[in-house]
Amino acid sequence: MKRYILLNPGPVNIKEKVRRALLAPDMCHREPEFGRLMTGCAKKLLRAFGLSADYETVFFTGSGTAALEAAVISSVPRGRKLLVVNNGIYAERIAEIARRHGIGLVNLRFDPAKTPDIYAVEEKIRKNKDIAVVAMVHHETSTGILNPIYGIGRLCRKYKKLYLLDSISALGGEELDFRRTGAGLCVGTANKCIESTPGVSFVLVKKTALPGLKKIRPRSLYFDIPSNLEGQRKGEPLFTPAVQAFYAFDAALDELIKEGTGNRIKRYRDLAILLRRGFEDAGLEYLVNPAYHSNTITALRLPKGVTYDRLHNALKAKGFVIYAGQAKLKKAIFRIANMGQINAGDARELLAALKAVLRK
Ligand SMILES: *Cc1c(COP(=O)(O)O)cnc(C)c1O
Repeated sequence: MKRYILLNPGPVNIKEKVRRALLAPDMCHREPEFGRLMTGCAKKLLRAFGLSADYETVFFTGSGTAALEAAVISSVPRGRKLLVVNNGIYAERIAEIARRHGIGLVNLRFDPAKTPDIYAVEEKIRKNKDIAVVAMVHHETSTGILNPIYGIGRLCRKYKKLYLLDSISALGGEELDFRRTGAGLCVGTANKCIESTPGVSFVLVKKTALPGLKKIRPRSLYFDIPSNLEGQRKGEPLFTPAVQAFYAFDAALDELIKEGTGNRIKRYRDLAILLRRGFEDAGLEYLVNPAYHSNTITALRLPKGVTYDRLHNALKAKGFVIYAGQAKLKKAIFRIANMGQINAGDARELLAALKAVLRK
């Protein structure tokens, strides 16, 4: 099969070492070899993100949404509410998880082209004494906006709320100081900036948040954080994990630690700068104010007379996979992500291809 340069926000192009790890020998997940691999992955994750003894890792087999659903349904006490700081489609997904489980929801919507207003969030928290958990998306992948994680963290500390952060598209790509955020639950996935394959997702749980989670009567068998964590700590996962995906994840974590998380963030940021210079050069317009831009996604307006399908298909024929807008933005924008094993040469080739397609 042809090798495509993936400019979608995961799954991403991975290293050969990670791909080869998928071909590990057949292994039973109940054997100590696999138990050690899983507990090793948990430790490597904490190490990669500078987390000392304050956090634990719990894994789920599934895409990022699996771990996100686990975090939501394991954290909101019955009779209390979840406040969603909502400025985009991924925040709306958190709200939808709450609705489907009959969890009390305060869905505070903001302009999706901007970062949320912290004062409005504070007012909401003050007026609704039922709110127990505040959730926000770190990097709103639908628009490429980086949200104010520390400002909301400060509020959570001030009002003693549990802070649930969806960092699925940010971990490994954006700076994240856990001590400063105070996040009680931070959700991530293997196949975005950690540069592994889909199949493994996880929640980083602050140890001080665990006693509270244990008091909640579980809403799910598969997605319950305390019971999964208990098994995994001993190297005894409750259910069959995606064994091969864990071998790849382990290799990807080794690569991340070797590169250094700070260096990876810088690599992505530099690539975004290179790409954005090219987008501006090509006369393309940003969807959001560049001051809000993350390191890894640029949402661009489709020029007049250019449909997404035409642009997508023409670029795909040249080996580049771009990404569409979601929901209302489907016809208005396209997105270019720069996560994974993409280098400056790939970026320059993409820009040349993009300019050639747009000239036609
Ligand atoms: C990718 C992503 C998710 C999860 O999507 P999956 O398709 O389930 O992996 C959740 N939140 C954000 C912000 C994301 O970027």
